This record gives sequence, structure tokens and C-alpha cells, in this order.
Amino acid sequence: MSANRLRGRTDSAIVLRTYKFGEADRIVVLLSEEGGKLRAVAKGVRKGKSRFGARLEPSSCIKAELYRGQGELYTIVGAEAISHYRNIREDLTRLLKVSRMLEIVDSITLDDVPHPGLYQILKGALETLEAGDSEMLLAGFLWRVLQNEGMAPHHEECSICGSESNLVNYDLRDGGLTCAQHPKGTAISPQALIVLQEILGGKLRQALNRADKTAANELEWLAEKVLQSHSERSLKSLKATHPAQSL
Ligand SMILES: [Zn+2]
Repeated sequence: MSANRLRGRTDSAIVLRTYKFGEADRIVVLLSEEGGKLRAVAKGVRKGKSRFGARLEPSSCIKAELYRGQGELYTIVGAEAISHYRNIREDLTRLLKVSRMLEIVDSITLDDVPHPGLYQILKGALETLEAGDSEMLLAGFLWRVLQNEGMAPHHEECSICGSESNLVNYDLRDGGLTCAQHPKGTAISPQALIVLQEILGGKLRQALNRADKTAANELEWLAEKVLQSHSERSLKSLKATHPAQSL
């Protein structure tokens, strides 16, 4: 194959997951900095024949050298480790958080669609978690991802009247906060609201320093609900565009 028929690229990437492919290979699902989610074959890794197989574990951050021939898949021709996150790997609690984070990124992305900012958010969360656990880490990560993808609310005002005080509800359907005069949606506690406003208002560090398990659980629950309602809606719009598929 001539060189100009190979589409090569080098990109920083985080391994989201891997799965078996053929006799000896694995498919590595990557979130790359520039290209979004990419799928690449790592040849020979299951027979120990790969020079860089050990660098391709979920959550590993690599500088990946990829090329794409005629097919859909890239092939990994080189992988240089940027970070392994050793502390995370040795701690089950942190490992569970990371597996949820990787799963969410995988679920909200389509192959070959750039998601500017998402790689940095994931990398930042992994680095924070490597340095030490925080009660608010997962909530912070989830809401930053929602914000980056345009799924987070205006965090300072009622979506109906614009009031900045007495925000007591979160309207999952329309995706906004509402005040006591416009009770719509699910209740949000004052503690969780403060943390949410910090996360969405550029004060993530401050939020991460809080040890408030109750608020963390509430914000994680709410974020999961938002993700769920978005995926249900996009499924519906997909069916509306392709009516035959809904039969
Ligand atoms: Zn209002």
C-alpha cells in the first residue's frame, strides 16, 4: 500500500475500554484529544507480541500513533505512555469511579466525532483522582461533562422567571433550575445547589474540597437522570428521523 493511501495521525488519547478481536488482537476504544472517540486494532497484544500492549489498559493516557487503511478501524502502530495512574489502579474505590467515568464518556460519544474539551475534562479528573480521592470527584466530573456537552442548566437563575433566589427545583424535561414560585421538576437541596453552582461556575477546585457525601450523592443521581433523559430523547429523535427503524 502506498504511503499516501494510509491516513496516519498522532494524537493524545485515553483508553476507554478494550475488547477481543480475532485470534490475537484487541480493539482499543480511545478518547483522543483532537479526533474524539476512535476505534483502533492493537495487533498481537493477546499473544504478548506487542511492544506497547501493556500501555493499552482502560484509563491509560497515551500518545497514540494511528493509521487507517481502507476500513473503518485504525491500527495502532505506536503508543507512548503519558500516564499510567498507578495510585488509581491500586485503590478499588477510585477504580470504580474511573470505570463509571470511562463508561459515561463512551456512552455519550459517537465514533469519529470531535468533542472539544472532553479529553481535558477526563484527563483532569484522572489526574485529580491520582493525587487523592475526593467525595465530590464523580459529581464534579459528571456536571462538567454535561456542561461541556451543552446539557447543563443556567446555574444562577430560574429558567422561567430569571429569579436568582429561592432556586429549589431542577426541571429535568426542560433542563433548568426553577424557583419556589415555579415549582417544576425534582427538588434540589440548598447544599447540593451551592456545590452545583460552584462546579458550573468555574469553581470546581472549591467544590472538590467539600466533604459532603449527601450533596455528592444527590448531584450524582441528578446528573445520571439528566444523561438518561437526554439519551431517551436522542433515541426518540433518531426514530422520528428513521421511522422504519421504530417498527
Ligand atoms: Zn421562577
